[in-house]
Amino acid sequence: MNNNGKICVSICAETAEEFIENIKRAVESAADIIELRFDCLKRDEINFVLREIYNLNCITPFLATFRPAEQGGKRRLNLCERTKFWQLFFSNYNYQTSFIDFEFDLNMVLNLKTTKSIVSFHDFSGIPRNLEAIYEIYSNLINADIVKIAVQADEITDSLAVWKLLEKAKAEKKQLVPIAMGEAGKWTRILGLAHGVPLTYASLDAGKETAGGQFTVRELSETYRIKELNEQTEIYGIVGNPVSQSISPEMHNAAFKFHNLNAVYIPFEVKNLAEFIKRFIKPQTREIELNFKGFSVTIPHKRAIIEFLDSTDETAQAIGAVNTVKIIDGKLCGYNTDAQGFIEPLLNHYVNLENAKVAVFGNGGAARAAIYALKKEGAKVTILARNLEKAKSLANEFDVELLKFSIANRKSKIENFDVFVNATPLGMKGTLETETPAIAAQMENVRLVYDLVYNPSETQFIKEAQLAGAQAIGGLEMLVAQGAAQFKIWTGKEAPVNEMNDAALRKLHVQK
Ligand code: NAP
Repeated sequence: MNNNGKICVSICAETAEEFIENIKRAVESAADIIELRFDCLKRDEINFVLREIYNLNCITPFLATFRPAEQGGKRRLNLCERTKFWQLFFSNYNYQTSFIDFEFDLNMVLNLKTTKSIVSFHDFSGIPRNLEAIYEIYSNLINADIVKIAVQADEITDSLAVWKLLEKAKAEKKQLVPIAMGEAGKWTRILGLAHGVPLTYASLDAGKETAGGQFTVRELSETYRIKELNEQTEIYGIVGNPVSQSISPEMHNAAFKFHNLNAVYIPFEVKNLAEFIKRFIKPQTREIELNFKGFSVTIPHKRAIIEFLDSTDETAQAIGAVNTVKIIDGKLCGYNTDAQGFIEPLLNHYVNLENAKVAVFGNGGAARAAIYALKKEGAKVTILARNLEKAKSLANEFDVELLKFSIANRKSKIENFDVFVNATPLGMKGTLETETPAIAAQMENVRLVYDLVYNPSETQFIKEAQLAGAQAIGGLEMLVAQGAAQFKIWTGKEAPVNEMNDAALRKLHVQK
């Protein structure tokens, strides 16, 4: 059953033409309410837009906002200008907006008796120390039907204070929209409706967000299905820093949807792991109840998480890293599915790795899982590292060969290997995209090249492999395989691998 919350799409454009065009597109989207940010418009376009909106005969309710810069608006607006705008808004145009959003100082100026209203407070610098007092003052305004409090969260634990106001609001039967802005607060935008928040804000398009951490309306409605969530929804997610580029939410949410599970997978940007575990997760110390059932762990916490676990499975212990946590009766159990996720696609393509000579470029977390899995299959592994000192301990730990490699030296052949594995970020989207650990001329007799980088799907390393006539596997297969193994651990169900793969591909396509 759906919750009663609404998705409010914010429209912010400078020209009347773009503004109206976006309203028309928002009407076609999953928006329940459309926020018209009049402060984004050039001054001389406001009148025209007000008239045009009237002519649109739009059935989706509007929320009108005219916000000054210090409250997150697009321009400096003094009290006089703002009062004039609202007078114009109310008197000249005979249409009924569903809501207006106003700032506290306008409370005495506006006569809001006939219009539903949101009184909003924004702090873009952090969490004000008197947050509770602000809530008290705002929620006691007779003019306000809904109170919106949006504060900037740089650490995920910053978002707790604003979320905790919800309990108070619920007890007082008041409507509150608590938002922690920024990457670390994204979870408040996903879970609000499930916990009785009346509306959450979204952008129409990626890159057109009106505040930090905002999702697109499509993401909220299709990926996270936020209107289907409730307080019983099982919470999973990815814990790391950064997590904004992760495609795991698309993959896992597609799997939950396939099995019709009341579960959601959320990006949790966590800098301080100890504080997150203490204040969000551990039953003895956590400050809020979100019904966490498990999470993926990624850079930089895969090793650091171990000290917070109640148990760790054999594979994770041998690798020395955990990428999956399942929470059972409040106990944290650690697993590592990277090794399985790495080896499954390789075995599909190579079949028998016994005595195969495999070169692994890199000596970080992914290399660690790959080497463990390769050794288990009986492969002869050599680590190729740019920094031998750094890689020495890993080579000793797993008893494998170690060689130096440098992308500056393309003349030297990297001889006598059947398989090349890239476990470095060389080739990854961004500044390293044109880089490759080896070029075709260095791949003599190599049968298979396996790039763990999955974005872009065809890396320079893969292109070089094709030039050299070697088989090539991209990193997406590993990503899906390790995710599928996580899904099985969490839910006990077979992962819908095709749906997960398609969802990941769709996201990669959007990120292009
Ligand atoms: P990590 O722990 O940070 O290790 C990165 C490794 O790459 C280190 O050994 C580092 O060498 C080396 N390296 C970094 N920049 C380099 C450069 N410019 N030239 C040469 N070597 C360089 O990262 P990770 O978790 O192992 O991830 C490595 C790659 O695997 C990433 O691209 C990641 O996206 C990919 N990955 C994919 C999957 C998947 O499911 N497909 C899963 C995990 C990881 P130093 O030690 O000398 O710094």
